[in-house]
Amino acid sequence: MKMLLSGTWQGSSNGREEEVRSPFDNHVIDVVPVATVQDAQAALDRAEIGAKIQRNLPGHVRSDILLRAAALADERAEDIARTISAETGKPISEARGEAGRAGSIIRLAAYEGTQLYGDTLPLDANPGTGFEKIGFTLRQPCGIVVAITPFNYPALLVLHKIAPALAAGNSVVLKPARSTPLTALKLAECFVDAGLAPEALSVVTGRGGDLGDVLVSDPRVRKVSFTGSTATGTRIASIAGVKKLSLELGASCPVIILPDADIELAAAAVAAGGFINAGQVCISVQRVLVDRKIEADFLDALVPKVQAIEVGDPAKDSTRLGSLISAAEAERVEGSIAAARDGGARVLTGGERAGAVLQPSVVAGVDPSSPFSREELFGPAVAVSAAADLESALALANDNPYGLGAGIFTSDIAGAVRAMRQLDAGNVHINWTPLWRADLMPYGGLKGSGIGKEGIRSAVHEMTEEKTVVLHGRPW
Ligand code: NAP
Repeated sequence: MKMLLSGTWQGSSNGREEEVRSPFDNHVIDVVPVATVQDAQAALDRAEIGAKIQRNLPGHVRSDILLRAAALADERAEDIARTISAETGKPISEARGEAGRAGSIIRLAAYEGTQLYGDTLPLDANPGTGFEKIGFTLRQPCGIVVAITPFNYPALLVLHKIAPALAAGNSVVLKPARSTPLTALKLAECFVDAGLAPEALSVVTGRGGDLGDVLVSDPRVRKVSFTGSTATGTRIASIAGVKKLSLELGASCPVIILPDADIELAAAAVAAGGFINAGQVCISVQRVLVDRKIEADFLDALVPKVQAIEVGDPAKDSTRLGSLISAAEAERVEGSIAAARDGGARVLTGGERAGAVLQPSVVAGVDPSSPFSREELFGPAVAVSAAADLESALALANDNPYGLGAGIFTSDIAGAVRAMRQLDAGNVHINWTPLWRADLMPYGGLKGSGIGKEGIRSAVHEMTEEKTVVLHGRPW
């Protein structure tokens, strides 16, 4: 595939290309251009024009374009799903679920982009102002939005940026992950075919390390929307300059299980929430903090469920766990499990690796202060640690540099209320794990997990700016 530069599909200015390979069996799926810094600058030049065009389109016109793009995403869902599965190695069943949400995310954005309401200001409440002035607020698009996305949800995370940005009247330059550019290009094609102004969207493929600084630090860019690791997010924050930033970063999400919990429900939810997408989800269950009194019962319920996960070829309908994004990543996670074992934890199941495929693992007796618990794992394993009571489980849950999602299983409303008040996480789930998301809900992390909120309404809000307008009449 070519990259999208302002309506035209083209190669990079120096002709360089690179292969996109399946992490599962290493076959070449396609070849994409490796954009140069000059290509990124050209995309920004065109986006400057695109921002002016988009800003002057009425909301209903922008909405109509997005609704056509949504219909195209629905029509092309199976092709998009196959592309997602091939380039990420995630099972086709999961990829179909992801691709199936594309149309509805775009439709949600089409609606929210027409809802740019403002406030009337009661200026007469200001001493000396009187009734002769009228004040109100207006929302307007930011201008150019730079969107940078990771590999793990190449459709959802791209759409959670470009759909609200375009719906709100911005132009966008997207830099998708180097390992998963094909899904992004196919989604962009839906917007192009729907009649979006050519200058309104560019997708530059290539290395984030080479293109990132140019895209992020350009003063013409008013908003950077980034999802990825905390390390990359920290760099972006340090060089962005004066502009709006949304950073959706890493995590190590806890789940608390109290003695009055439904243990079967908790075990089933952890067996899903720790292993979907091979655990490569920012809201994946990483730390299970289970009350000591029920630890053995919980592990008895959890381990067979994890052992029953069918591992293998992502293209097979029955596969539930495919490969990680690369053999190197699988090796890293394998090494973390081995280090936990060397540190005294018990590997109850899994952890064996073949290439990029890692058997799902449950590791018990994990020291909550060990790297296996504290650092983001981003792989198919959960760390189970015992807690004395709710008080200490909450303290352990919060004793972490991240704060994206958290869950608690309990049948006691008082414990649930205390947890929702005291857990330091952007999303808190009662009787489910953090691995749950509706596209309309505000979504984003506290602490090292980032700043700002996604979720379509929140994203439209963050991709627009508020102006205060005052009409000066005369006293009568
Ligand atoms: P990553 O290495 O940080 O890469 C993310 C994106 O940033 C890629 O497009 C990458 O390009 C680009 N990039 C790399 N260096 C850059 C630089 N110097 N300037 C600007 N962009 C740069 O993250 P990843 O490994 O793809 O994704 C996994 C991480 O994402 C995990 O930490 C996970 O928790 C996080 N994540 C967070 C959320 C959330 O909502 N909080 C959701 C999903 C994932 P290249 O691919 O070309 O290097």
